Amino acid sequence: MNYEKLAQILFPDIDKEPSYYEEMYPARPLAEGQKVTRFAPSPTGFLHIGGLFAAFVSRLTAADGVFYLRIEDTDKKREVEDGVTGIIEGLRAFGVTFDEGVTGVDSQSGEYGPYQQSKRREIYQTFAKKLVQDGLAYPCFCTAEQLDAIRQKQESEKLNPGYYGEFATCRQLTLEQIEEKINNGETYVLRFRAPNGDKKIILDDLIKGKIEMPENNMDIVLLKSDGIPTYHFAHAVDDHLMRTTHVVRGDEWISSFPVHVQLFKACGFRVPKYAHISPIMKEDDGGKRKLSKRKDPEAAVGYYAEVGYPAQSVTEYLLTIANSNFEEWRKVNADAPQSAFPFTLKKMSQSGALFDLVKLHDVSKNVISRMTAEQVLDGVKEWAKQYDEELYELIAADEKYALGIFTIDRYNAKPRKDIGKWSDARQYVSYFYDKIFERTDALPENIDGEEAKKILNEYLGVYNEQDDKDAWFDTIKAMCEPLGYTPNVKEYKKNPEAFKGHVGDLSAVIRIAVTGRKNTPDLYSIMTLMGVERVKDRINDFMNSL
Ligand code: GLU
Repeated sequence: MNYEKLAQILFPDIDKEPSYYEEMYPARPLAEGQKVTRFAPSPTGFLHIGGLFAAFVSRLTAADGVFYLRIEDTDKKREVEDGVTGIIEGLRAFGVTFDEGVTGVDSQSGEYGPYQQSKRREIYQTFAKKLVQDGLAYPCFCTAEQLDAIRQKQESEKLNPGYYGEFATCRQLTLEQIEEKINNGETYVLRFRAPNGDKKIILDDLIKGKIEMPENNMDIVLLKSDGIPTYHFAHAVDDHLMRTTHVVRGDEWISSFPVHVQLFKACGFRVPKYAHISPIMKEDDGGKRKLSKRKDPEAAVGYYAEVGYPAQSVTEYLLTIANSNFEEWRKVNADAPQSAFPFTLKKMSQSGALFDLVKLHDVSKNVISRMTAEQVLDGVKEWAKQYDEELYELIAADEKYALGIFTIDRYNAKPRKDIGKWSDARQYVSYFYDKIFERTDALPENIDGEEAKKILNEYLGVYNEQDDKDAWFDTIKAMCEPLGYTPNVKEYKKNPEAFKGHVGDLSAVIRIAVTGRKNTPDLYSIMTLMGVERVKDRINDFMNSL
């Protein structure tokens, strides 16, 4: 067979050689240890938390190297509207930034583009043409019916399904037959001529370790009948020309690795390193299953913005599931930025990290507790603007007041952890705003309504908003004895029969009257911020309700 002639027949318009592109996209000037990674999504739906995780891990892997975004849009049928912008904005919201690649529907940055596969047709064809010239690829005219007949035969003979060996009938076509079919207008795909051998190959995966697999013997499709490459071929060409050093991708691709190695080698490319990420799992009915786009709302990254998890909480959580030593590190480096964590692919879970919303919530409480009051106010305000108009209006009407709320009990050794997501804020701030205030807790059991009234009346008589915290507490202590309580908790515990209760009971009643809650941050700070009018109104209203 004259392969040169075949190549000319199949690719009459391709006038470039692979060397043209090799020169156009030279090896990158990388310093020792610098890596080049990419995120290569298909714009076929919303950004999945697994996608964000993969992008995040790729970014961390190339922290000081190059991380780029390639859009794999060869399947135009499955593409969704706004798919590309959805991905870009989705990632940006979580602080995942790219050094190169697609930046918008029709824009990109970097020297190794185009970064959108639909714009690389000529490049793929140039490399495909070379494979034909080298006798490593051939056109296949088999129709769907013919392929089906092959499959049935293989099934009845209990053989592996696929286009290979003796079943690869188009391998045998002569140049004349091929020319004739093309002249007759028959469509064809371009197939790879795989070796028949039964060697073993080894994937030395950076996450999963060494995996032995049989060599590929399938004549897989390189170019579909419309000249568009399959994932396999595009992967080899793109990751080579974009000079990817580390392919970080989902582990559903492990089984394709034998094909990929062959393609890299057939094209004369150096095989990159691979890190295959296990899918994110979820506990379900005592078992573990993949997080599902259909069943689990938290699978879509939009979920987190909606319920109000700060992006920083989500990435903090992703780090905890990415590397199991992250939490230990975080304990010692409480205030360090996430980027200071020495992330490594080696410590990634081999079997699939468990995604646990309860854990995310806890992580997020910690993250938010370490934020400044201004950051919390901003987060709540931005979230409320979109999802809770009433709350937004209350906050925006007096931001100083709102800032005061988030300042209470914040800057101390043990900041409170009441807020895990911005949507928790409504409940947390509600008693500061008459409009959304609701009483949720009742009086302590040992104090009935009449008793509470007595205490509160007494308190209204002595309450002085000018008091500092010590003076305020002294006032409450001073109320104790005349009412039959003791200011001394220890004394009460020693001899509970002698008193109606202790100073804590008095402040509990005041707390309930003012906030409607048993548990709140520092009551003195709350009352100071609320102001004397509101405090007195609350107490009076409460007494009237008893
Ligand atoms: N477009 C492929 C996917 O979304 C990319 C896989 C890869 O990263 O190589 O699964």
